[in-house]
Amino acid sequence: MSENHPDGFLRHPRRPIGYREPASRVADFHQIYRFRWDPAQLRTQGERCMDCGIPTCMAGCPIGNIIPDWNDLVSRGAWREALARLHATNNFPEFTGYTCPAPCETACTLAINDDAVTIKDIERAIVDQGWEAGWIRPEPPSERTGRQVAVVGSGPAGLAAAQQLNRAGHRVTVFERDDAIGGLMRYGIPDFKFAKHQVARRAQQLRDEGIEFRCGVVVGEDVSIDELKARFDAVCLAIGARRPRDVAVPGRELQGVLFGMEYLCAENRHQAGEPLDAAMNAQGRRVVVLGGGDTGADCVATAHRQGASSVVQISINPPLPETRQADNLWPQSPQVRQQTYALQEGGEEAFSLNVAAFLDQDQDGRVDALELERVDWKRDDQGRRTDKIVRESGIILPAHKVLIAIGFEGPEAACLNDPRLTLTSSHTLEADARKMTPVPGVFVAGDASRGQSLVVWAIGEGRDVARQIDLWLMGSSRLPASLSTPYPPLPPKGL
Ligand SMILES: Cc1cc2nc3c(=O)[nH]c(=O)nc-3n(C[C@H](O)[C@H](O)[C@H](O)COP(=O)(O)OP(=O)(O)OC[C@H]3O[C@@H](n4cnc5c(N)ncnc54)[C@H](O)[C@@H]3O)c2cc1C
Ligand code: SF4
Repeated sequence: MSENHPDGFLRHPRRPIGYREPASRVADFHQIYRFRWDPAQLRTQGERCMDCGIPTCMAGCPIGNIIPDWNDLVSRGAWREALARLHATNNFPEFTGYTCPAPCETACTLAINDDAVTIKDIERAIVDQGWEAGWIRPEPPSERTGRQVAVVGSGPAGLAAAQQLNRAGHRVTVFERDDAIGGLMRYGIPDFKFAKHQVARRAQQLRDEGIEFRCGVVVGEDVSIDELKARFDAVCLAIGARRPRDVAVPGRELQGVLFGMEYLCAENRHQAGEPLDAAMNAQGRRVVVLGGGDTGADCVATAHRQGASSVVQISINPPLPETRQADNLWPQSPQVRQQTYALQEGGEEAFSLNVAAFLDQDQDGRVDALELERVDWKRDDQGRRTDKIVRESGIILPAHKVLIAIGFEGPEAACLNDPRLTLTSSHTLEADARKMTPVPGVFVAGDASRGQSLVVWAIGEGRDVARQIDLWLMGSSRLPASLSTPYPPLPPKGL
């Protein structure tokens, strides 16, 4: 409820900024979302916020963005104030405003029996406006502490940690093994989901605030953890969780069977001007994507843009139900079948299929088909797959290119070359409640700490670890306390 418009949700239907038409967007690598938005439309969308007293949307947002406040500010046209409110909890609102699956919206009170507020689009609009108007500027600290921190990895977790630590007055150096800043925001998420100039301008803001970036440095090979410890007062490992899960079946070694991440990364580099290796080009090829998740969807959409002749996305699981089940009520995210943006553009999906072998029927060393079996699963009381029941076997599906996108198995910790940095049973880097690893002064954040997750969680992790490092270095910290852990709902305004 905007103060000016208490009944906005009754008067205005939900009208998001929305996506470009599938037939048009699939023909290019430009962003899939509509480019332009109308400030008047966004203001009326802000009016739809009921300011319901217990902002479940904020509890749904992993970083606790103060959503009702900026909805109200936008409804009154106070864009600059809204930007300040947004930056109070989120270092990079455009990272989330463009890529977040918006768990806040499924938790919005309106979503109980109506359409949620277009929270993610309002976030995007605020930050778009902020860049366009030149309101987003470097904010270097007024004084320095004399302490130095090394951040390893320049994904959203590393960048958020670096900006927070720098603003606390520490000197920060970010080490990145790639040739460019951004982690999966740069090499992973396709350009049409997140345009790369958005990372470049944030990296420039961080440079202008005094942060140093050293690209092309592999920590563990070019410089050891002990060398970093000797040169810096604290180290933050934000190395992601990119070890891909493999499919160990006959024929895995055949040409044309690739990890989805290799493929997506090659196309990111191609979009940045590098040549595309023929092995990474799906033009005119039959493509099969293994894995029904988001990385799989990005592979489907990339294959269509490259001109694949057909694309099939296979999931080992059965499809989700069409409607919410009794054990999946608001404000949880609805576990229902939804067509992904990628399948709106074309392609087929198939469920309950397990790969038995990759086949090379003409014996030329290249994959030309998959052998599949139709399966059901017995599950334990946590819903985890236990025993496989094969319903049908020997199903042959032609394929020139198979992209494996069945998940990740944690950080590439081996490359750190330090036996003290061990993995937990859930494949995350071992750390205590302060996020400190068994090596004193060495902390961990982002996907390396919680497993392959979301950009918004990575930003929250980066903010959290920055506060922990600041506390460890200084004994106290003015950086904001963690919001990415469960917290009690805020009291209604005025109490
Ligand atoms: C294909 C794909 C699509 C995705 N799409 C979305 C999406 O739409 N929305 C969403 O919210 N999330 C999405 N995600 C998840 C999201 O990208 C990640 O959760 C997020 O990027 C994690 O951030 P991070 O900083 O922890 O790690 P990363 O982004 O993985 O960054 C880690 C960085 O550390 C560097 N590094 C690793 N080891 C070393 C070393 N030894 N020395 C130096 N540097 C090192 C890496 O090169 C990398 O740059 C997607 C993930 C994938 C794979
Ligand atoms: S970061 Fe994600 S969950 Fe949080 S307000 Fe933005 S869209 Fe919603």
